[in-house]
Amino acid sequence: MNLKSLEKRLTYLTANAIRDYRMVEDGDHIMVCLSGGKDSYAMLEMFRLLQQRAPVRFDITAVNLDQKQPGWPEHILPDYLDSLGVNYRILEQDTYSVVKSVLPEGKTMCSLCSRLRRGALYTAAEEMGMNKIALGHHRDDLVETLFLNLFYGGRLATMPPKLKSNDGKHVVIRPLAYVPEQYLEQYAGHKAFPIIPCNLCGSQPNLKRAEIKRMVQAWEQEDPNRLNVILRSMQNVRPSHLADTDLHDFAGLQGSVAPGMPDPVTGEEDAFAGLQADRVDAS
Ligand code: SF4
Repeated sequence: MNLKSLEKRLTYLTANAIRDYRMVEDGDHIMVCLSGGKDSYAMLEMFRLLQQRAPVRFDITAVNLDQKQPGWPEHILPDYLDSLGVNYRILEQDTYSVVKSVLPEGKTMCSLCSRLRRGALYTAAEEMGMNKIALGHHRDDLVETLFLNLFYGGRLATMPPKLKSNDGKHVVIRPLAYVPEQYLEQYAGHKAFPIIPCNLCGSQPNLKRAEIKRMVQAWEQEDPNRLNVILRSMQNVRPSHLADTDLHDFAGLQGSVAPGMPDPVTGEEDAFAGLQADRVDAS
């Protein structure tokens, strides 16, 4: 896809997600979290484009947390952001040393690293008076996280497009929730974003996430629409057709047929009542 069509497609998907979840409202000041990866660069571009066209007025500040990984190229993001002329802040917090000191050598550090980063960003958002925090997770991240939780976490959950933080102070938004990762890869190539790799820390790759990613990518090759269908299914949840007693009152379900009485329509006996009677007889 050429840059113009790709950008049109990206803004369309991003604007749809923003509208569907009311991610952006008049007067918002949004912290656009910039990691140096392709997704966050693209998200910043989307906000810049939508700022010109959106019917609401909102401010953005790009924020990067310098986590003090060895070899982090400090100048790349400031140079890039200066060239765009956007408001930005570079925060500094040595979470790298914290993670290194807490986790044994060779352990995957991403989970703790991300939690520390999130904490630092939430604190900064509050200090700087930003009411929304935008993260660059895309459609494939949502799908992969769903299966990661399903296969290894024993729960049906993903990264939601919009989320209130546990302390109730922050709203986290994911405006790229509808965007396929391959569009972001192509866009990064067209725009020549100055990508900073996320492996400077030397963390071991998360093998489970890598396995799920491979599985999801294989599906996508088999059927290019499959991830969109999975995304749609996350938007079309039927708690009464799952099995979570907290979400649906299964215990309170009552039919109109009294136990043991034939159904007035079908004439059938209550099968469960019969089963209980059999069990009693057998004992
Ligand atoms: S790769 Fe390194 S910097 Fe990136 S999230 Fe994982 S631990 Fe943090």
